[in-house]
Amino acid sequence: MKVLKFGGTSVGTVESLRNVKGIVESLDEPAIVVVSALGGLTDKLIATARGAADGSVDHRAEMAAIRARHQHIIDTLVPGQLRDSVTGRVNAMLNELANLYLGVSLINELPPKTLDRIVSFGERMSSVIVAAIIDGAEHRDSLEFIKTERWHDRNIADRRTIETKVREQFGLPLKNHVVTGGFIARDRDTDTITNLGRGGSDFTAALIASALDADSLEIWTDVDGFMTADPRIIPDARVIPHMTFVESMELCLFGAKVIYPPTIYPVFNKNIPIRILNTHNPAAPGTLITDNSAELPTTVRGVSSVRGIAMLTLTGQVTSNFPEVNSRTFNAMARAGIDVLLVTHDDESRSYSISLKESDAPKAAEILRTEFAPELSSGDLKGISADTGMAVLAVVREGVRKLSGLGTRLLNTLTREGIDVLGLSDGASEATVAAVVNDQDIIRALQLVHDSVIKSSPAK
Ligand code: ADP
Ligand code: ASP
Ligand code: MG
Repeated sequence: MKVLKFGGTSVGTVESLRNVKGIVESLDEPAIVVVSALGGLTDKLIATARGAADGSVDHRAEMAAIRARHQHIIDTLVPGQLRDSVTGRVNAMLNELANLYLGVSLINELPPKTLDRIVSFGERMSSVIVAAIIDGAEHRDSLEFIKTERWHDRNIADRRTIETKVREQFGLPLKNHVVTGGFIARDRDTDTITNLGRGGSDFTAALIASALDADSLEIWTDVDGFMTADPRIIPDARVIPHMTFVESMELCLFGAKVIYPPTIYPVFNKNIPIRILNTHNPAAPGTLITDNSAELPTTVRGVSSVRGIAMLTLTGQVTSNFPEVNSRTFNAMARAGIDVLLVTHDDESRSYSISLKESDAPKAAEILRTEFAPELSSGDLKGISADTGMAVLAVVREGVRKLSGLGTRLLNTLTREGIDVLGLSDGASEATVAAVVNDQDIIRALQLVHDSVIKSSPAK
């Protein structure tokens, strides 16, 4: 049994929905289909909510456009005998959404729980519509089996409850295709509507695939596969035919938007292969992701980048005890739910730096000041500085850090062209070498590095 996930770009228009229908109906056995909201709708739902709260958006006009978009798809693609019931179900949701916008506009406030409820309508509506478009498919409400729990001030997937509930919901072997919404969830204790984070439909599909020991997970999107770089930045990026779970995880953690990073873990654990495929070009072979690195070419798999990065630097004697500083820093960040992208450490200048999202920097600096308060007062730690306006570039291939000289080659490639390398990674992963550069240099840096480590090697 396969789990197929279709992203917003695959379910955004009548034409792409016809492709989805064709792809699913041509499968030779029933599958589980996870869908995102219609392309761009989640952004629209959020923008309208914020605009309704501060009075800057005519939420009634936006609602009319959202209604018309869904109705057009229903009228064009849902078969006659199902059209009234689908219209009825979608209209009930649209009415609830309109009431929420009205409420938000009246109180001039947008509580986070209300926003979560508002965004959930995207997948709730699209999944009902897609289920009706695919011949003989059933709809299943993912709010019944995708559960989150509170962790610090975030909602995170409750893997154990999800596994139990998914197994209860889906009797195998499936009799028909089943369509369900990605991204959306409910809090396991309070039942309030939550979600798995932006881009989270991939994760829903992976959680279902893992719970049911699926044969494979297919991520259907709008590009021919996982590419050697973001094709919007590097036009001559090429499709990677085969890569490992670890490589895909690293590329995604460092900004490759094609898969939502947490997606990889559940399927990696169960060794379920992932395929990245193009809804608009279903005949393309796509990318296969497995745990088999033995037969892969020895060349670098891909490069990726994250912008909007800040670097927090600790200077002083204490940093010479790298293991202790590192573990205290990582634990403190983990407790606050802050992701650290990479660590750089320079014994000579007695400095230790972490790179993270700019938006996390003020909180992270405060946490470090508390964590290292004793060292700050004793003088073992001279200070903690924060620099913003940076970007991280990552070069990925399993075992890359064992390859001698890649870091030096990266450094030389960039500095030769006048790009300052502000840090070179000492991260935990053996699959990535990463460099911190100024944000204004990142596109040129990506091009240079892609040309140097990928374009110059033969296509496989
Ligand atoms: P979906 O709606 O299918 O979830 P996303 O927009 O989330 O689609 O992800 C697909 C997009 O990811 C592509 O259109 C592409 O622009 C972007 N992307 C970034 N890096 C890569 C990469 N290395 N390979 C392929 N696509 C990438
Ligand atoms: N619709 C959600 C988003 O736009 C989830 C997803 O598309 O994966 O973030
Ligand atoms: Mg996506």
